[in-house]
Amino acid sequence: MSGLENKRKYESEAFRREKEAPGATLGALYTPEETWFRVWVPEADEVTVRLYKTGTPEEAEDKQGFLRSIPMKPSLREGESSVWEAIVPGDLHSVYYTYGICRAGVWKECVDPYTRACGADGVRGMVVDLKRTDPEGWEADTCFRADINTVICELHVKDFSCHQSSGIPHEHRGKYLAFTDSTGRNTGVEYLKRLGISHVHLLPIFDFSSVRETGDEDQFNWGYDPLNYNVPEGSYATDARHGEVRILECKSMIQALHKAGIGVVMDVVYNHTAGLDNGFQATAPDYFYRQNSDGSLSNGSDCGNETASERVMCGKFIRESVIYWAEEYHIDGFRFDLMGLHDTETMNSIRKALDERFPDKHILIYGEPWAASASPMEPGFFPAVKANVDKLSPDIAIFSDDTRDTIKGSVFFGEEPGFVNGGRGLEPGMASAWCAWCDGGHEFTPVTPGQIISYVSVHDNYTLWDKLVLTQRAAERGKADYGEKKPQLLAMNQLTAGILFTMLGTPLFQAGEEFGRTKYGDENSYQSSPSINCLDWDRCRDFSGLTEYYRGLISLRAQIPLYRQQSLKAVQAVHIMTAKDQVVEVCLDLEEYPCRWRKIYIVANASHISKATALPKGGRYQKLVDEKSSWLWKRAGLWSKIKKAEQIVETSPVSIGIWGELR
Ligand code: CA
Repeated sequence: MSGLENKRKYESEAFRREKEAPGATLGALYTPEETWFRVWVPEADEVTVRLYKTGTPEEAEDKQGFLRSIPMKPSLREGESSVWEAIVPGDLHSVYYTYGICRAGVWKECVDPYTRACGADGVRGMVVDLKRTDPEGWEADTCFRADINTVICELHVKDFSCHQSSGIPHEHRGKYLAFTDSTGRNTGVEYLKRLGISHVHLLPIFDFSSVRETGDEDQFNWGYDPLNYNVPEGSYATDARHGEVRILECKSMIQALHKAGIGVVMDVVYNHTAGLDNGFQATAPDYFYRQNSDGSLSNGSDCGNETASERVMCGKFIRESVIYWAEEYHIDGFRFDLMGLHDTETMNSIRKALDERFPDKHILIYGEPWAASASPMEPGFFPAVKANVDKLSPDIAIFSDDTRDTIKGSVFFGEEPGFVNGGRGLEPGMASAWCAWCDGGHEFTPVTPGQIISYVSVHDNYTLWDKLVLTQRAAERGKADYGEKKPQLLAMNQLTAGILFTMLGTPLFQAGEEFGRTKYGDENSYQSSPSINCLDWDRCRDFSGLTEYYRGLISLRAQIPLYRQQSLKAVQAVHIMTAKDQVVEVCLDLEEYPCRWRKIYIVANASHISKATALPKGGRYQKLVDEKSSWLWKRAGLWSKIKKAEQIVETSPVSIGIWGELR
């Protein structure tokens, strides 16, 4: 069948009515007595399940490992005429399997898209008794905290511990288990805990294709090339050949983070697949992929293809995969890569499904509200892009590229500055960013500040430090030295952090931003060496002043209940007093948000002259943050002793000053 014939067929009412099976339970459903194999194959002459002893042919003595093949039959349940099933008696835990599908005399073998375990490099699925993959104490594992003040740190599993200065035992470096190690110094999970973040957001931990799982440790990839969506990546496990090991070790990582009081957000990439030789294409050719009007596969991801979330069985797959990770792995949030390739209806259905399944837990959902290229979504659906943010649930947030670029300059033009590094005319944008773009008059309309993820740097593009070096070099026509701890750059970095952690919206930062992380100007390190990508813990010690500055701000933010107010009401508490001449002055009215302070005055001064601010007469003020420290508010614990401050306060050039009016 041609692509065009497939497209017409899949979009027809008859196919939807007769072939799709939205209510079907799919996958290899294990019990100790028997395993049910259930797969959706809308058109085939024969379907079989093939059982194997090993995860790859090479591991078997006969270079195959084949055990037997069992014919599958169409389900007799209502609405499941396209679901094929086979019930195989016996305890099949750790037996590997694939499906064989025959059409017009041609057999094709594939991995079950729903498989929950696999062998090395994901070439065969594996039947798994998930109970046997639980680390000790897993039933009690939870990360529920009331009144959480969300601050997210974006982190890559390998970056975290592969550097020799990490203090992690050699055999765990770059692995899930690094998170379970106590190093006795300020690295590892203890470091994250001390930083005060509420969540880590892990770059892909599902099974991706680019790294050979049994290959050498010098390999590196971010992992945005999905292979098996419901299986953890094997290269982060100590043994990729036995399917249950990666599951146990991935859960152990999550458990260790939870024990430290840190929630785990998973980066999910449902928008495209690594290639097309997979279970999606074998079970239902072209169905899971979006198609151009001529039937060819479209490429809105710029990675060769894009999935079609608006097709019922594809949306179902994504939704069920998310629920599975939340349920089985206790995941606390999901970050959708290129969310703009998904339709708003599917995104909202995922929100609803999570809320119904976990009524007592608030699981985060946020994503990139853009696509990489144009996408031919079927008519009647809306892409989850920035312009459609108001069509998304208030509990689905978007990365704000506007906030990012306004604060420190465009990601596309390395030398173009933003507010903190000398850019002009950005004050109105800064004022809007402070209100999480809920102040109206923009091309997009967030329903609540909770819909905005405020950030300046993530894995993509230059690190914040590298961006500051580049803009500074352009300004001074000098040479950039990424390694040097220049006071001017530190000042800009501190100002950036001061802004980021006092805005509405949810702050998110790339791990290491708080210690001047550099990739030496590498703006797309997705497959660069581990030495470029790793977190350098020696540098962390060297830049400990900057880290402390981040820590103080995160801690201060946690004291202010306003930042837990995710509704539009929060915007009423933010008053922009000045937004001109490279200065933004903001007053937070905390009358309705009980804490030490009645009002907080924030002065972000990006100019090269000191800024004088008149605080209203009659108040008792406490200096909370200045250019030297973000911990002043804490040290002055005996605030009753503070004398009436001078009415005029000064904020140094390129710095942030924050004052609190005591109640
Ligand atoms: Ca893999």
